[in-house]
Amino acid sequence: MNSLVDLRSDTITQPSVGMRQAMFEAEVGDDVYGEDPTVLELERTAAEQLGHEAALFVGSGTQSNLIALLTHCQRGDEYIAGNQAHSYLEEGGGGAVLASIQPQPLPNQPDGTINLEAIRKAIKPDDFHYARTRLLCLENTFFGRPLPLDYIEQATLLAREHGLATHLDGARVFNAAVKQSVTPETIGRCFNSVSACLSKGLGAPVGTVLCGSREFIDAAKRWRKVVGGGWRQAGILAAAGVYALKNNIDRLVEDHDKASQLAEGLTSIDEIEVDVSAVQTNMVFINLPKAATTTLSPFLRDNGILISGEYNPVRLVTHLDVTNEGIRHVISTFETYFTQHPLN
Ligand SMILES: *Cc1c(COP(=O)(O)O)cnc(C)c1O
Repeated sequence: MNSLVDLRSDTITQPSVGMRQAMFEAEVGDDVYGEDPTVLELERTAAEQLGHEAALFVGSGTQSNLIALLTHCQRGDEYIAGNQAHSYLEEGGGGAVLASIQPQPLPNQPDGTINLEAIRKAIKPDDFHYARTRLLCLENTFFGRPLPLDYIEQATLLAREHGLATHLDGARVFNAAVKQSVTPETIGRCFNSVSACLSKGLGAPVGTVLCGSREFIDAAKRWRKVVGGGWRQAGILAAAGVYALKNNIDRLVEDHDKASQLAEGLTSIDEIEVDVSAVQTNMVFINLPKAATTTLSPFLRDNGILISGEYNPVRLVTHLDVTNEGIRHVISTFETYFTQHPLN
């Protein structure tokens, strides 16, 4: 444990004492044989919470999205995704690289939605000139913003009307549900499959759950094996996931509150641009003056604060290892920096 205030991501959390205890005590078996009781418990719990029949415990969000693509689509198919979506942009083009599945990126609006008319137009007619449009992928939260619930309904309805399957990259879907005061199931059941990370705001060291119908998950399990994701006594890790799903969802509201406090605090600094109303969950995006980009990070680091990157907008992420005191320390350290480095 350390006393750094690390705002780079919510993936950097340390497993809590209670979580470690659960891992220590986990009953395990060989999960490739389907014999790990803790993995099975995690999969049942996740499926139920997200409104699906079954779930599969996998190593990462990237692996989960890849397995979803492999399961929904075949070679020569295409999937529609936002042009800023993690599944399109930041997963090494896995669907194209490994499965000859073509992405059809469409512009994301700032709230994470993709214009419905644009989706309609991008769905290819049944004609051998075209790739077969098979799948619509959405992302929730999107840069810290929950997708509007009515949008989710409309977009997934549109997909169904055109015979497309739907997948939600819900890496932070629990943050969305907490923010919108709905059950995760309310969001999850709109999609044919949902991927949710345990290793982000929920504080588990590793792991993602992919949820869907029994049939979908049986097929997904085959693809997990193909991509080298079959694992053995994974219950040690699944125990952290079970603990996270039981204990760390409702408390996400604290992370959201801390993000709001942070954004509010930073508004008093003229040199920083921050849109408080855009802060919905655990992320704050700020614009820093160019002159500050190279010297601010080292200054913060010297004061026990880590932020990522020098490029605007800079993303600050709250999570369960950031305390209220930490937030106050961050605000006052930013103030000190700009007092010592006046811009004009
Ligand atoms: C983090 C993230 C992923 C991938 O998760 P990894 O576990 O890092 O592979 C996918 N989608 C979104 C939106 C994410 O934030």
